[in-house]
Amino acid sequence: MITFQNVSKTYADGTHAVENIELSIKEGEFFVIIGPSGSGKTTTLKMINRLIPLTEGTIYIQGKRISDYDIHELRWNIGYVLQQIALFPHMTIGENIAVVPELKKWDEDKISQRIEELMQMVGLDPAIYRNRKPGELSGGEQQRVGVIRALAADPDFILMDEPFSALDPITREKLQDDILNVQQNIKKTVVFVTHDMQEALQLGDRICVMRDGKVEQVGSPDELLHNP
Ligand code: ADP
Ligand code: ADP
Repeated sequence: MITFQNVSKTYADGTHAVENIELSIKEGEFFVIIGPSGSGKTTTLKMINRLIPLTEGTIYIQGKRISDYDIHELRWNIGYVLQQIALFPHMTIGENIAVVPELKKWDEDKISQRIEELMQMVGLDPAIYRNRKPGELSGGEQQRVGVIRALAADPDFILMDEPFSALDPITREKLQDDILNVQQNIKKTVVFVTHDMQEALQLGDRICVMRDGKVEQVGSPDELLHNP
């Protein structure tokens, strides 16, 4: 469970990016944050894993203030997927996926098994792709690796910031299916930022609509469609 209590963020230049947000994201939920560009979605997401400090209020994860967590403990338990593909270009796909499991000192066999299992889950044959470098993969394949890398060390939470927006429509649809399968199989709490209503309706258990740094509405896709 992730709880925002009266959270605000004002940047150094005086921009009020997020104002007095109250949110409660449930265990195992696919929670989508939608809103126009500049509405505070990314700021909201990045405060969860302390990439951006809050100006006011408190965020709790599983009842504990995020500021009370050891930063590594916090980050290792929260997978993070960016819009821009951010794989390490000089490492193989397998090595990229292994980064956090290695930091957590998992043993080699367990890491190796995990890499194969995750690659298969998103349709990347390990025999072909495991030892390739990111530059030898298509954009969609790299984005798929970005998603499974975030899952590698079995975090309880996954944050995704418009992870599919740079992809062509067909690859995008395939990845949306992948991520839904993944989330439903392993029951992760996902917080997913998008500005695409169709994507929000397809993926979200609940959707949070942001505008001008404020939460305008939170509800299931049905509730949003019937009370726009
Ligand atoms: P600090 O709080 O350390 O003074 P800021 O949070 O203001 O820094 O800025 C952090 C980074 O975000 C800087 O690299 C800055 O150039 C960039 N930045 C500044 N204004 C904006 C903006 N309106 N939108 C996106 N990025 C910005
Ligand atoms: P969204 O993800 O919905 O596009 P953001 O959270 O990125 O919105 O930005 C919210 C507001 O904060 C915008 O007005 C943006 O310009 C501003 N902003 C974002 N990052 C910074 C920064 N580092 N410094 C100053 N202003 C920023």
